[in-house]
Amino acid sequence: MEQIYDMIIIGGGPAGYTAALYAARAGLSTLVLEKLSAGGQMALTEQIDNYPGFESGIDGFTLGEKMQQSAERFSAVTELAEVYKASLSGKIKTLDTSEGVFQSSTVVIATGASPRPLGVPGEEALIGKGVHYCAACDGAPYRGKTVAVVGGGNSAAADALALSRIAKKVYLIHRRDSLRATKVYHEPLMAAPNVEFCWNSTVSALLHESRLTGLRLQDVNTGAERELACDGVFISVGRAPATELFRSELALDKSGYIIADESTRTNLPGVFAVGDVRTKALRQVVTAVSDGAVAVHYAEEYLAENR
Ligand SMILES: Cc1cc2nc3c(=O)[nH]c(=O)nc-3n(C[C@H](O)[C@H](O)[C@H](O)COP(=O)(O)OP(=O)(O)OC[C@H]3O[C@@H](n4cnc5c(N)ncnc54)[C@H](O)[C@@H]3O)c2cc1C
Repeated sequence: MEQIYDMIIIGGGPAGYTAALYAARAGLSTLVLEKLSAGGQMALTEQIDNYPGFESGIDGFTLGEKMQQSAERFSAVTELAEVYKASLSGKIKTLDTSEGVFQSSTVVIATGASPRPLGVPGEEALIGKGVHYCAACDGAPYRGKTVAVVGGGNSAAADALALSRIAKKVYLIHRRDSLRATKVYHEPLMAAPNVEFCWNSTVSALLHESRLTGLRLQDVNTGAERELACDGVFISVGRAPATELFRSELALDKSGYIIADESTRTNLPGVFAVGDVRTKALRQVVTAVSDGAVAVHYAEEYLAENR
């Protein structure tokens, strides 16, 4: 008979490999299914400075590999496989993948979320060279510089406010004539002397040499274009959680994130959601790893009650 694991973790980012470390160390038979390589979104970033324990920072790819090795040290197994279909309602959970079918008693979903791109030519090549998607992650090097934030929701407003405390100048570019963000951001943003709003504007081009030098903006009403010099742009036009697979069985919020509180428990017994894929206020490596540990605590409780 095929093995039924105690725990299968879908996704080998920081949340997934922390769950794997805690589960394997607790003696659970543990399998990580990862479609690409260890590290998830972290692998896209050259330098992580806000994860404790690395006094000079660490590159995301290396941190991902270290997290995988830490889990495998306690006999967690990684299978490079993409999950295509998940049946999570029964006591035995079944996952159809590119490498066959796997079964387990508990499932931890750690599939992450990715920032939505603007869709402007050259954007991908300039990531990390002036184009960013996370002010908390990449804002620090812009102290005393000029930056732009694109978007009009809460994350864009929060990013603009955070950047206004370190940058010389912050342009907030939004395609409408007012922010969608909650009122709590309005007053401090309006009061910040170094924040300038570019209403009714979209970004039509990224100006660059080896790195970003500015933006071309287009007025959505008149079509008129103008150029804006800046050292960096933070794109905050939403994120796409990787939850399509789970839509039919799991409760999702209106943005598509899996509804789970600090316990990481979902609406299905034995199924946990950790890291960027679940509803939460701050999506960072440090909050992802915290979720991974918490999920195993509740999964052990579930297993003890349901053996
Ligand atoms: C450019 C960039 C820079 C960042 N910089 C920082 C920083 O400096 N500091 C910080 O704290 N945070 C940073 N972040 C945010 C941080 O990377 C995320 O919060 C964190 O990686 C979330 O971890 P996760 O494990 O929840 O998901 P992810 O890291 O997104 O990992 C999800 C994993 O699941 C896999 N997966 C998805 N679907 C499937 C499937 N169907 N089958 C199998 N595998 C699947 C993916 O391949 C991926 O490896 C940055 C993010 C980006 C994009």
